Amino acid sequence: MQDSGTLYIVATPIGNLADITFRAVDILQHCDLIMAEDTRHSRVLLDHHDISTKMTALHEHNERARADSLVEQLRNGAKIALISDAGTPLISDPGYPLVRACRQAGVKVVPVPGPSAVITALSAAGLPTDRFMFVGFLPAKAGARESQLQNLADESATLVFYESPRRLLNTLEVMQSVFGEQRDVVVAREVTKQFETFLSGTLAEVTGQVAADSNQQRGEIVVMVHGARRDPEAVPAVAETLLKSLSEHLPLKKAAAVVAEHYGLRKNQLYQLGLSWDK
Ligand code: SAM
Repeated sequence: MQDSGTLYIVATPIGNLADITFRAVDILQHCDLIMAEDTRHSRVLLDHHDISTKMTALHEHNERARADSLVEQLRNGAKIALISDAGTPLISDPGYPLVRACRQAGVKVVPVPGPSAVITALSAAGLPTDRFMFVGFLPAKAGARESQLQNLADESATLVFYESPRRLLNTLEVMQSVFGEQRDVVVAREVTKQFETFLSGTLAEVTGQVAADSNQQRGEIVVMVHGARRDPEAVPAVAETLLKSLSEHLPLKKAAAVVAEHYGLRKNQLYQLGLSWDK
């Protein structure tokens, strides 16, 4: 353990209680205080590993209000561990305001690595991992979800989403219409738990499997989508969307010129694309 006051960011299991490092257990046993998202939920893990350190709640509703007093305790030498309900804190979980406040105040922040659903799911998905984009949760509103997916349509890195079971089928259907039926996808469910499942195939195939089996719409889910395969001649989807909007207000020639300049594309290619819509 560090000599000075330190905030430890400790990763905990995403399902299997044995997926925790020796170092994490040691820090959780010997620190002064554990900040947990949901203390009742974390009690199960702590009891399993004989950790009796005092625990209090730090969740998205109180984390800003609590940051100053925690920074004060840390400055006075306290050793505090931050954990979340599962996986790595701050990854689609609380903690960002506290870590930022600590860094600004010159308080030591030490990561204690371990599982995170994004890396765990990717490691066994069989999709390219040299470049990936972690998108996290899509917006809840249908329009905002679809437009975010549209903005990602040309991304060539593997896309990784966290998704709730009740939205999974709808998300796969929208992905099918935005990314195309043939794009490869992997749905990782209940990873490291009893009902761990990886479904893989094209968006059309996996959407069909999920629609046909309601068990696939339960539990915790990571959706991973193969990146766009680049056609050097293709107009990116974002440019096409902008061209469509602009051409409702401007002559097609003018709209094509504006979009071409904005995205560094050829004017004539965009103009021809615009003409093809009416055919
Ligand atoms: N901090 C966590 C991490 O490092 O992965 C993520 C927390 S986020 C609030 C919870 C989401 O992570 C779930 O809705 C699900 O999308 C994903 N997740 C967590 N555990 C999982 C598991 N065992 N299998 C599949 N997805 C999981």
